[in-house]
Amino acid sequence: MELTNEEIRRYSRHLILPEVGLAGQKRIKAASVLCIGAGGLGSPIAMYLAAAGVGKIGIVDFDTVDYSNLQRQILHTDADVGRSKAESAKETIRGINPNVEVVIHNTRISSENALDLIRPYDIVVDGTDNFPTRYLTNDACVLLKKPNVYGSIFRFEGQASVFAPHLGGPCYRCLYPEPPPPGMVPSCAEGGVLGVLPGIIGCIQATEILKLAIGRGSSLVGRLLLFNALDMKFRELKLRRDPQCPVCGEHPTIKELIDYEMFCGIAPESQPAANPDEVTVQEMKKALDDPSLGIKVVDVREAFEYEIARVEGVPLLPMSELRSRFTELDPNTQYYLLCKVGARSHSAMEFLREQGFKYVKNVKDGINAWSDEIDRSVPRY
Ligand SMILES: [Zn+2]
Repeated sequence: MELTNEEIRRYSRHLILPEVGLAGQKRIKAASVLCIGAGGLGSPIAMYLAAAGVGKIGIVDFDTVDYSNLQRQILHTDADVGRSKAESAKETIRGINPNVEVVIHNTRISSENALDLIRPYDIVVDGTDNFPTRYLTNDACVLLKKPNVYGSIFRFEGQASVFAPHLGGPCYRCLYPEPPPPGMVPSCAEGGVLGVLPGIIGCIQATEILKLAIGRGSSLVGRLLLFNALDMKFRELKLRRDPQCPVCGEHPTIKELIDYEMFCGIAPESQPAANPDEVTVQEMKKALDDPSLGIKVVDVREAFEYEIARVEGVPLLPMSELRSRFTELDPNTQYYLLCKVGARSHSAMEFLREQGFKYVKNVKDGINAWSDEIDRSVPRY
């Protein structure tokens, strides 16, 4: 592995660092990194790794660029809205450093393809935003003995670590043996995220990748770094490998990839069997259009969300006030509950049923579906 004169000039600030030097830069060039997700975390990761001269960067993403991504996903520009994220990422990376080989995988990572996707790479970086993919990435990396550079973000808080049982550290399952019940942990789409936060956590992940590549410094193996942007504080937890861990422990029970949607309690998308607890936005429209049906629609989002987008004629009863205010509702009336994507309204429905409300249903996919399918003048956020 040699560096051209152009590369020597490009990487000169690395080459004069004794800890990197010519040998380290050659190791960076020889390295290959698979970036799972070209979103908030994937953006700074891919851009800094490209600038630093990582020889091969793989990008796995099946999504397209949406306006709501641009607040933090700096791989993509306004002109990329509607394009494939993987394609857009490739173009940005090539613009930063044409020496980098970019391989795009315009697909959803799954139990069927994960091992084949990951096998050709030295290091995997987790830039995903959902639990099934996080457990899938973890298990595939443990099985293939690849370091898994982990990061996650929510609202103003983020965390990062390096999972590598083959290097003596724990894996993601040692830390979180069980996924949270579905709907319990809101996603960034539901809970929001400060735009710069993935920049900070993604840069920590990119730093760890470069350190792994050059083999210098103390990595985050065995440590969980916690960051709070509002308080501007970093904390650190020591992590230990769990000998009972089902995938990296002494007697592993998971020896091949499983069904991660099922493991995380999420019904597979291919079975949209009518859920008796759910109604569609079309059914919600019928209820609003025909008061003689006696069905009331209630919005359980928070007041600041109601200010951003609302459906005419739907009153607000925020989830945060439901416990103290549910007595304002009539347990014998039929209610359809609306939130942003259908997760909080599902929890609200369960709560009201526990209080003796018999006729409560959840509006599937929330006000976002209303905006997509019924009334485009309602902003999607
Ligand atoms: Zn483990």
